[in-house]
Amino acid sequence: MPEPTTAACVAAVGKSLFIGGAWVDPAAGGSFPVYDPATGEALCEVADAGTRDGRRALDAAVGAQQAWAATAPRQRSEILRRAYEIVLARSEDLALLMTLEMGKPLAEARGEVDYAAEFLRWFSEEAVRIDGGFAVSPDGRSRLLVMRQPVGPSLLITPWNFPLAMGARKIAPAIAAGCTMVLKPAPQTPLSSLALAEILHEAGLPAGVLSVLPTSDPGPLVEPLLRSGQIRKVSFTGSTQVGRLLLAQAAEAVVKASMELGGNAPFLVFADADLDKAVDGAMAAKMRNMGEACTAANRIFVHESLAEEFGHRLAERMAALVVGPGTEPDVTVGPLIDDAARGKVSALVADALSRGAHTVTGGSALDRPGYFFAPTVLTGVSRDSELMRAEIFGPVAPIVSFTDEDEVVRAANDTEWGLVGYVFTENLSRALSVAERLEVGMVGLNTGLVSNPAAPFGGVKQSGLGREGGRVGIDEFLEYKYIATPSS
Ligand code: NAD
Repeated sequence: MPEPTTAACVAAVGKSLFIGGAWVDPAAGGSFPVYDPATGEALCEVADAGTRDGRRALDAAVGAQQAWAATAPRQRSEILRRAYEIVLARSEDLALLMTLEMGKPLAEARGEVDYAAEFLRWFSEEAVRIDGGFAVSPDGRSRLLVMRQPVGPSLLITPWNFPLAMGARKIAPAIAAGCTMVLKPAPQTPLSSLALAEILHEAGLPAGVLSVLPTSDPGPLVEPLLRSGQIRKVSFTGSTQVGRLLLAQAAEAVVKASMELGGNAPFLVFADADLDKAVDGAMAAKMRNMGEACTAANRIFVHESLAEEFGHRLAERMAALVVGPGTEPDVTVGPLIDDAARGKVSALVADALSRGAHTVTGGSALDRPGYFFAPTVLTGVSRDSELMRAEIFGPVAPIVSFTDEDEVVRAANDTEWGLVGYVFTENLSRALSVAERLEVGMVGLNTGLVSNPAAPFGGVKQSGLGREGGRVGIDEFLEYKYIATPSS
């Protein structure tokens, strides 16, 4: 097994929690293993945070809030900029660490390091552009001043599928806005978050502004924080199921909430699509992160005139992918995160086959250590198959044919989720009209990749509340304060 080499990575694979600017042992002791999904074997143990550690981290965040909010925006900006540069300088080690704990191929992990770094750079630029307003009231008798202030101590909770970028997408705007924070990473992938904490510390982030608490038991750690009355903001990325639970807890303490939840992306290929672009787009939208992405194309609707050709071409490309441990140089598809994830994908494929689907390529788990599943294309998928309703979260492309534009838009919208949709057509008016009618927060128009730190990422319906990235990303961590003053 390759070893992470730099000090940052070695520190991340240590045994401590990061609280109040220092590496500390958990109050109750204890650790839990982090597994390599390519082998199923433990990589290392990390410290297991409990309720008392949550309290310590909250105290640190509350204690640091006032002074941190009063720092010059330029100071916060420059900390982020330095962190951006350190992340890029350590790109290879961070990518390796991420591949080891999460499974994605090294080339994709390098891409995620760049993506994460861009959030640090983007919000270093946004930190110095927090503005307010001044207006004369309509009756001319008073002046209206509006200022923006940090919302306060924030709780950040991230998933395992993009271990570095999901943390950076929350931490960077919180720093830019002047919020202190407690980050709880996913138990499957805490190492990248610990490495990022080390980097931010080196970049000059003051003690207490960020604490990182890996835990094997998130409920008892998180709930008291949300109910404490001292956390002012929760920013969560993960499943809709856990998002609902956290929203209910946040509601009781009236905590401002941002939710980046699950997806069930429709991918529409119209009769006038450029087939080369559509197949490239499907490969990107389906196979990025082995299909373990909230943005993954989950339901591929292809016009009946192209469905057969599209299915063959996609299957050819899928069959040519190299499945194996992400640390091996030629590998393009790594393992799924764990045995349960692989079991879920197998069950969804079995259900689709039992309802009349055909396997064009793949179709099963690989018989080797680790949690590998073959890149799979299914055609003739029945619309009542379970995989049309559930997030597949694996390398399975189900193809359904359609004839009518209105009908396919209705089918695309027939889901509780609304994160992203993909539209492939060379007809401009159809492109715009379908993009407008899709009930989603983002549309990929003739592209299978929408993620961009400079754009507002997020969903509608049960895919979430709020946006991350873009000009609006910092708003999630700011409040308005209005000051009324008479004209003289
Ligand atoms: P998850 O909901 O199981 O876990 C997400 C985080 O919540 C983890 O840190 C987990 O430890 C924590 N958590 C679990 N139970 C909790 C509880 N009771 N209290 C507090 N925290 C708790 O999701 P996951 O399996 O880690 O990630 C996959 C999901 O994330 C998918 O549904 C995917 O679509 C979604 N996702 C969404 C986006 C987006 O931007 N919309 C991005 C990436 C992933």
